[in-house]
Amino acid sequence: MNQKAYNPFDTAKAQFDKVAEMLELDNGTRALLRNTMKEYHFNIPVRMDDGTVTVFRGFRVVHNDARGPAKGGIRFHPQETIDTVRALSMWMTWKCAVVDIPLGGAKGGVICDPHHLSSREQEQICRGWMRQLSRDVGPLQDVPAPDVMTNSQHMLWMLDEYETLRNGRYPGVITGKPVGMGGSLGRTEATGYGVMYTVREALKEMNIRPEDTTASFQGFGNVSQYAIRLYQQMGGTAVAASCWDQNDQRSYTFRKSGGIDMEELMPITDKFGAIDRKKAEKLGYEILDGGEWITQDVDILVPAALENEINAETVTSIKDSVKIIAEGANGPTTIEADKVLHERGIFVIPDFLANAGGVTCSYFEQVQCNMNYYWEKDEVLGKLDTKMTAAFIAVSELAKQKNLYMRDAAYVIAIDRVAQACKNRGWA
Ligand code: NAD
Repeated sequence: MNQKAYNPFDTAKAQFDKVAEMLELDNGTRALLRNTMKEYHFNIPVRMDDGTVTVFRGFRVVHNDARGPAKGGIRFHPQETIDTVRALSMWMTWKCAVVDIPLGGAKGGVICDPHHLSSREQEQICRGWMRQLSRDVGPLQDVPAPDVMTNSQHMLWMLDEYETLRNGRYPGVITGKPVGMGGSLGRTEATGYGVMYTVREALKEMNIRPEDTTASFQGFGNVSQYAIRLYQQMGGTAVAASCWDQNDQRSYTFRKSGGIDMEELMPITDKFGAIDRKKAEKLGYEILDGGEWITQDVDILVPAALENEINAETVTSIKDSVKIIAEGANGPTTIEADKVLHERGIFVIPDFLANAGGVTCSYFEQVQCNMNYYWEKDEVLGKLDTKMTAAFIAVSELAKQKNLYMRDAAYVIAIDRVAQACKNRGWA
């Protein structure tokens, strides 16, 4: 992606402007919501393993916290930009609002490349990030989480630094922790299952039985694997999944017309979601080009890998058989392709609704930490299903009532909720 040509914050603001117009928001509310509320930009000096000091640039952006404590991940990335963090913080506000969890939106980042940093150096970055922000994050203020290139270990270092500085135990200050250290059961499944709860509801509306459907998936990582598992439990046939092959530096689609078998594929899949091609071939899988996931003659497509994969070029390969696209990934559809999907009448479950199971479960983690009492997995997943189903029904009812595209209906609900909260507080 050409970063010069594509500024995600411009996109986020354009999306907001369109819905602000539909909602006829007043100028004060627009000014408040089309920009971020608070931003922290700071240096993190780190003594490197070779004895020199490197200064890393860190950010935290709170877009809006009118509905509750802000929530959002921290990315480590060499090309991190403040505008990316701003856009992601705004999208977090809408995501939390559309599933109606009492949280606002935030995002954080550090410009760094963990591939070239030792574990000790990464720990120093995490502790330095938290030292800068320990007065401004907190269980009732702003709750970070993992994101691109950060994981539960990074979260534990940050938690430890916060608790040392604040002289107490505050497990609710950060989510994405391992189970047993304040993490929630069900978090691993949450995003993929959440995608499928919304697909199940969409099929119900169309009077189609899951048993009579087929689906194709892009990606075979955390989101896709659990989406496929639940889809198969519902009776659906997952005919294809694609993944990235690190050795060949290209992607492949794995297809079995009778349906792919998770029990066969999981033992030959690495932790990055890459399936071993040779072993899959021996198991009778057809190995196609990575782009073929989208050309399958199926009822449901689930992009669950990267941004901009459904674009002006690829959208034309979508078969007429496709009735539902459930966006597991963030931003998998470009604005041009989205227009085509809308015109073709394909039922799109937009990303910030379809993949909101992750943040919803992170909210459950926060709740459990704040109570210091942890739920069983079935309880977590039951509550997740209730939240996702209610959110889906609210969006689809509005779409029907006002004859709106699903993405627009989801934005209308989310932005209206946040605008109302701002008004109720006297901010707008
Ligand atoms: P992951 O790293 O576990 O898996 C990514 C998968 O995509 C892997 O199977 C990888 O091989 C595949 N992939 C990468 N490049 C590809 C390509 N060119 N063609 C085909 N496959 C390719 O990631 P994940 O956690 O499953 O996340 C997937 C998407 O979902 C991302 O957009 C992420 O932002 C979004 N998302 C994830 C969560 C979550 O809780 N994990 C929550 C919300 C949104």
